[in-house]
Amino acid sequence: MKKVDVTILGGGPVGSFLATILNDMGVSNVVIDRDLIPYQLPRAIVMDDEILRACYDHGMGEWLQHNTEPLQRGDFVGPNDAVIIGADIPPVGLQGVPPVVAHYQPELDAMLRAEAEARGSTVMWGRTVTHMEDDGKKVMTTLDNGETIESRWFVGCDGASSWTRKFTGLQLEDLCFDQEWLVVDAELYEGAVVDLPVGVRQFCHTDRPFTFVQGVRRYRRWEFQVQDGEDTAALNTEQGLWQLLDGMISPSVARIVRSAVYRFHAVVAPVMQQGNVFLAGDSAHQTPPFAGQGLNSGMRDAVNLAWKFSLVTRGIASEKILDTYSSERVPHVRSTIAHAVDMGRLIDQLGGRVSHGVDVESGYGGSRPSPFIEAGIVVGDDARVGHQFWFHPEVSKAVQRDGASFVLVTAAPVSIPDAFASVPIVNVVAPETLGGAFAIVVRPDRYVAAVAGDMTKLNECAAILATYV
Ligand SMILES: Cc1cc2nc3c(=O)[nH]c(=O)nc-3n(C[C@H](O)[C@H](O)[C@H](O)COP(=O)(O)OP(=O)(O)OC[C@H]3O[C@@H](n4cnc5c(N)ncnc54)[C@H](O)[C@@H]3O)c2cc1C
Repeated sequence: MKKVDVTILGGGPVGSFLATILNDMGVSNVVIDRDLIPYQLPRAIVMDDEILRACYDHGMGEWLQHNTEPLQRGDFVGPNDAVIIGADIPPVGLQGVPPVVAHYQPELDAMLRAEAEARGSTVMWGRTVTHMEDDGKKVMTTLDNGETIESRWFVGCDGASSWTRKFTGLQLEDLCFDQEWLVVDAELYEGAVVDLPVGVRQFCHTDRPFTFVQGVRRYRRWEFQVQDGEDTAALNTEQGLWQLLDGMISPSVARIVRSAVYRFHAVVAPVMQQGNVFLAGDSAHQTPPFAGQGLNSGMRDAVNLAWKFSLVTRGIASEKILDTYSSERVPHVRSTIAHAVDMGRLIDQLGGRVSHGVDVESGYGGSRPSPFIEAGIVVGDDARVGHQFWFHPEVSKAVQRDGASFVLVTAAPVSIPDAFASVPIVNVVAPETLGGAFAIVVRPDRYVAAVAGDMTKLNECAAILATYV
């Protein structure tokens, strides 16, 4: 029988990423996947700066530099192809990296699997589970070859049809979006001369809305909305696909990598934990891909869980810190999905198909409040609380690799509040990042936990935060 801290079911991108960063934090783990190799077809195509920063902080920067490309623009165009709303994306954002980059998911998945194994995870590819039992203190997992694993926790990163979710009885709530889209990935031939948009463009056409995404290197993605009563099998043929792509690319300049019909829907598990069993990634939430957030949200789940597991295994925090996983992640992911749903509705609305009353600015994203951690290990009502701390090399260094230290950012060195005596915390002096505050407490996942105006307030915040840790 194998004994580890965490059993992870699913070696897709979320499970492999979780395993990788747990190794950095000294949390032993096993990853199980029924497939011997990662899924070979691209689904996720963009990664945001929060996740990019997390990957950089966990030593994957070099791979990302060679295998991703910044997106430069995002537009919604109307039926006549004129831009209704759009913006250039700056080359570097608040996280010190591009705000969004394109990648090729099979390559990302393969890198993450390799990193997990190289950093010490026990990998069990080509295996599945048949049973799992949580007795409140440990989880016993039985594999299809009869082997057993004892672990403190079990995380179901087993995708949309999650065995874990069904086995535990955790439910998905339907957030009421349901459309079929045909997703087509193409690769331009070397030297091909084409006239395609830069970045992402939502074509809000009345007869058939579609999306274009400039993928990494010569990859390009189209997503075509399937119309009521249409025969998807006829649409998804060589002839049907080239007809859809007519006027943009032809067989003389590109090859089709794959095409598949997806049901774009919006669901979330209102509770992502049952006892010592957790859901992460698509097993816990699924979003229409208009905002490119499905995998990003799943990797956020992984980061959120990882540092909490680490604090518990090191004897720094009690298990009750794990109860904040659902309360922190569910509202955040709901907000992320709500934006994607609004984007989908805006596409129909701007094409003059259906009026959903979506505000154009907010549907696009510009005027929309970013999702943030509303409840959990956060204190106070300063607007920065619950949001990512902007990039600072010293803060990044402090949370880097071991990934489970807090940072106290101040204008001058201060003594760490007594309430934080048992908390791993580093004082970083960075007056330029404080925006008038006396101190900012940054969590191991780089979210702002508290903003204090003076030492008394800092002590009060520390006392509240310390009740979780
Ligand atoms: C068209 C499209 C475009 C998208 N674009 C984006 C985007 O731009 N950005 C973004 O962030 N997201 C995007 N997504 C979403 C993204 O692809 C998913 O959110 C992501 O792949 C989910 O990762 P996961 O690891 O949770 O699940 P999966 O990738 O589904 O991995 C689950 C793993 O679990 C394994 N598994 C399942 N059940 C078992 C079992 N019983 N036993 C053993 N192993 C099991 C599977 O083999 C698989 O390896 C897009 C999705 C689609 C469909």
